[in-house]
Amino acid sequence: MTNTTLQTKQPSLPLSTTPHLSHSRIQRFLHCPEQYRLYYLEGLRPRYPSASLVFGQVVHQALAHLFQTGGDAAAFFEEGWNGTQELELTYSQRDSWEKMRDAGVPLVEKFLAEELPRIGEVVASETPFRLDVTGLDLPFVGIIDLVGEVDGQRTLVDFKTSGSSYGEHEVVLSDQLTAYQLAEPEARQVALWVLVRTKEPKIEWHPSTRTPEDLLLYLAKARLMAREVTAEHFYRRPGMWCGWCDFLPICSGNPERAEETLVTTQ
Ligand code: SF4
Repeated sequence: MTNTTLQTKQPSLPLSTTPHLSHSRIQRFLHCPEQYRLYYLEGLRPRYPSASLVFGQVVHQALAHLFQTGGDAAAFFEEGWNGTQELELTYSQRDSWEKMRDAGVPLVEKFLAEELPRIGEVVASETPFRLDVTGLDLPFVGIIDLVGEVDGQRTLVDFKTSGSSYGEHEVVLSDQLTAYQLAEPEARQVALWVLVRTKEPKIEWHPSTRTPEDLLLYLAKARLMAREVTAEHFYRRPGMWCGWCDFLPICSGNPERAEETLVTTQ
């Protein structure tokens, strides 16, 4: 049966150099094993990162600043986003740096005004965890966005930023929340707290729970994936998602385009 050891300290080696499993690694492998290989083994990244990804990272940092220091998250966001102005990012057709700045500040302010009062004790923010699980050759690591009392219940929160609303099934099926529950089995509930970047800023609260069976199913999946990675079974899994995959120029045999759009980080 499952035997887990939780360590809440930052692993001593940088995660990128230590063989490990994580929710995002599992997600990427299941999405397309070749994409996993290009991303994690070849170390390829887009030359111009996605603006919405960077936007989400700045919001995360602003919320962590709030929970860790009590500082002004809206001001922190604004300063962080101002720092990205000179970066070459990839914006979607409907986005621009200015539009995202104008959406971000009211969004964080709305969270502070309407949602923050629901949070009691903050136990931890952006806390790394490491699980050593029987049958998994590699440690399973992750970072929980927030562990705290929400509406009086010990809750594990994953913050999301999104351009549209989340469906209820997304929280029920979220593997990331299942991984959180594995790391913090005492928590009463898990939740996605979504900051929706629409014209009128919107905050969504999606709570859920995880059963022991959910955790076992997830661990079985992690074992399966670890075996495939160890055996180097990196096959292409083509589909409509290739249209927005950063590595399409490689898979479709366009080295000039790949050179233009990708960089190696290793
Ligand atoms: S383009 Fe398609 S097949 Fe190639 S790595 Fe991306 S998702 Fe996989």
